[in-house]
Amino acid sequence: QSMPEQERRYRASIADIETTSTGPRRVPERAEIGDTFAGTPDSDPALAANREWAARAVASEPPSLWSPHLSSTAEVDDVVRTARSAHQSWAARPAAERAAVLREAARELDARREQLLTVMSSEAGKTVGESDPEISEAADFARYYADRAEELEDGPMSDGATFTPHPVVLVTPPWNFPVAIPIGGPLAALAAGSAVILKPAPQTPGCVEAAAEALYTAGVPREALQVVRTDEDEVGQHLIAHDDIDLIILTGATDTAELFDGWRHDRAEGSRIYGETSGKNALIVTPSADYDLAVADLVQSAFGHAGQKCSAASLGILVGSVATSERFRRQLIDAVRSITVGFPADLSTRMGPVIEPPEGKLLRALTTLEPGERWLVEPRPLDDSGRLWSPGLKEGVRPGSFFHLTEVFGPVLGLMRADDLDEAIELQNATDFGLTGGIHSLDEAEIDAWTERVEVGNAYVNRHITGAIVQRQSFGGWKASSVGPGAKAGGPSYVAQLGTWSRDGLPA
Ligand code: GLU
Repeated sequence: QSMPEQERRYRASIADIETTSTGPRRVPERAEIGDTFAGTPDSDPALAANREWAARAVASEPPSLWSPHLSSTAEVDDVVRTARSAHQSWAARPAAERAAVLREAARELDARREQLLTVMSSEAGKTVGESDPEISEAADFARYYADRAEELEDGPMSDGATFTPHPVVLVTPPWNFPVAIPIGGPLAALAAGSAVILKPAPQTPGCVEAAAEALYTAGVPREALQVVRTDEDEVGQHLIAHDDIDLIILTGATDTAELFDGWRHDRAEGSRIYGETSGKNALIVTPSADYDLAVADLVQSAFGHAGQKCSAASLGILVGSVATSERFRRQLIDAVRSITVGFPADLSTRMGPVIEPPEGKLLRALTTLEPGERWLVEPRPLDDSGRLWSPGLKEGVRPGSFFHLTEVFGPVLGLMRADDLDEAIELQNATDFGLTGGIHSLDEAEIDAWTERVEVGNAYVNRHITGAIVQRQSFGGWKASSVGPGAKAGGPSYVAQLGTWSRDGLPA
């Protein structure tokens, strides 16, 4: 099987954070224990330049948008009516034809890589190292769902049964993966034969429009994929609660899923929201681990896109002697200090700005310590925008505390201690969520015990815990990290769950 393009790109992007037992290789001048964070901003010319770029990125003009901003419930009704009629002709096309359009969309997305990288950095603050594999992920979704569309008609999945797609699917994506998630849901629904209404997150409509253009050029009819914006007012609520929207594909906070579910509660077929929600994810390191790899993967998982991923590692759970190992601690501190923060489009930047000046839970996580906690690397605001923060690393996170149980969605990694693997797994499973989790261990018995008991949708062994690869690591949650039947994005049954199955006129 060939390696998905996204995986090739990720491998390239993490190649530069390998660490050695004496610290990271790339920026040794910033790796001294006892230094303040790589941002002694005033004296360090490289960082000062980065800050200037970051200020520019933060201040840059948003892209000019073409998607309509719906301002009345009548406009919403029009959009839904257009979708219902577009569904008829789209679904009537043979699966092979829809699949061909999707495969062409993959080529188009790839051809627009530079344009997408630009808008992802200016609008979402996403670094090139993070955006580049994400564009490939979107293209991988297109190719993968194209294959699934053909299977629905005549593959092993149908087994004599007939698939009928839900006519109209609304996709409500988040801002943190501003291309792959907004485009992945529609690609799956279009593969199934549905018409799609796509409502971008208010922070990143330009990324979504740029990606949607690729789909139109590939041959997706504009009526079969409508991009519309709404506010979170009664117009937005009318769209979410609409009787003629058969299904919502949501990726976002658990609270948002609950809010939408409340609005859709009275619908005849039930609220029908499928999606992936919040996470509070941990990576366990046992004494048998390869420390170099564990450090690199912890840092990659915690600080990629400034920790703004549902999949991000927010906790490192150190088992037994790892918790007291001076070598492990030094390596981790060095690696965190070596992260260059700045303008996302600068190739040397590892971490860009957060999406908005932090408030609430994230501000609390960046600026306060809970009882028992101590900074190993204290996060600091690096400029006046309020969005550019250096990464934070703390130890002493206590079981049951705010930081143990709460998703903060930003660049802070907290360390916990566990006497043994059993205790580590208990700490990992203690949250309401169950999205991603990892273990670094070279002991097979430990790996087996962990795999058996960990309560997450995506469990990673000796690997970073973000960046699920289409087809190889289909992505989805468990517990409060998931809504709906739970087939995972980029996995074999994702498209097949977007409709109903019948045999001889009866539900199959
Ligand atoms: N699919 C992404 C990953 O594996 C996470 C998506 C999200 O944050 O919602 O890292």
